[in-house]
Amino acid sequence: MATPDSPREVDCVVVGGGAAGLSAAVNMGRMRRSVLLIDERDRFMWKHVAHNYLGFPDGIAAVDIRRLGWRQATKYGVELLLGHVATATRDGDRFRFRIERLPDGGAWARGPGPSVPRDAEMAGIFGEVPADGSVEVVARTVILATGVSGHFPEFPGRDECVGRSLFWCIHCDGYESIDHVLAVVGHEEDAVSTALDLLEFTKRVTMIAGRPEGFDVPASRLADLTAAGIAAHPCAVAEYENHDGRITAVVLDDPSRTRLPVDQVYTVRRTRATNDLARQLGLELNPIGQIVVTSEQHTNVPGVYAAGDATSLHDHQISAAVHEGNQAACGANYHLYSPAQR
Ligand SMILES: Cc1cc2nc3c(=O)[nH]c(=O)nc-3n(C[C@H](O)[C@H](O)[C@H](O)COP(=O)(O)OP(=O)(O)OC[C@H]3O[C@@H](n4cnc5c(N)ncnc54)[C@H](O)[C@@H]3O)c2cc1C
Repeated sequence: MATPDSPREVDCVVVGGGAAGLSAAVNMGRMRRSVLLIDERDRFMWKHVAHNYLGFPDGIAAVDIRRLGWRQATKYGVELLLGHVATATRDGDRFRFRIERLPDGGAWARGPGPSVPRDAEMAGIFGEVPADGSVEVVARTVILATGVSGHFPEFPGRDECVGRSLFWCIHCDGYESIDHVLAVVGHEEDAVSTALDLLEFTKRVTMIAGRPEGFDVPASRLADLTAAGIAAHPCAVAEYENHDGRITAVVLDDPSRTRLPVDQVYTVRRTRATNDLARQLGLELNPIGQIVVTSEQHTNVPGVYAAGDATSLHDHQISAAVHEGNQAACGANYHLYSPAQR
């Protein structure tokens, strides 16, 4: 029985306001469930434009998918909160969350930061965690859509380059690389196959291990690169020369600091699933830390669903995230039905 002091209870807490979380929230809202979506701004601050998402022949900026998704979610009564979900615990058949204020107080909610297109519509859609502390919420179901991090190395000017001259995914941006001069940076098999696959778009591809230890692939794969006309440099990168979002050269960390003029770079690295809350809730993770889900986005804990890049199911694409978010909402909604409704 709730007391006046007990935390508010909602049908569903969605953690993460990317494509997966927004899709989940919209679909839960449309089933007339009370939904609280919490997001701390993150990767969608990149300036990338998705060209392969159906229905947008001129492409759609990632930030616009968010902006439109937020608006769509609020239309169905979803509450949006800007904050960091710090803890998630199981409490019988309920789930308890502590949501903290962001260190800078949530500049995103009040107005776009430097790397986001200025858009008055973005301001004021989110509520903010009060300045004086954290908020507790209890939910009957949970959808985790917390994404991944670590696609790109850190270097001065990087944020301006992401999505303009710095990429990671051939499905997302290979077409935009036609006839460009490319460097692929990565030491594992995925990087080698990306370099070879990019030959479908341009013949001017170079590989760089991106670390002093060189490549971690069999010699036969380096031979494949040579046979395909791709030079492979077994060293780290000293510098990514860039200006105004355009990478102009990669400087190798070799004795002569070789400078390779390029106009695009693909970095192929292992990303990290954001799985702190999944661990706290006791969710099963695969060996690389992604949340294990069924094809209906169920996790191993009844009432908890996961969607998008944080999961192990599909390639990391907006279309997959939207589908998985929708599917997770179907699952969470079904979980809330009474036995007679099922
Ligand atoms: C540079 C770049 C270009 C891309 N280009 C394309 C493309 O052209 N086409 C395409 O289909 N896909 C593209 N992708 C992939 C696509 O963006 C992802 O597959 C998609 O964004 C996944 O959505 P998501 O909701 O799972 O995760 P995300 O969009 O990463 O959202 C996760 C959200 O969860 C929040 N979060 C995490 N933990 C917490 C917490 N504890 N509390 C509060 N909030 C939290 C994060 O802040 C983040 O906002 C690209 C990705 C990148 C990085």
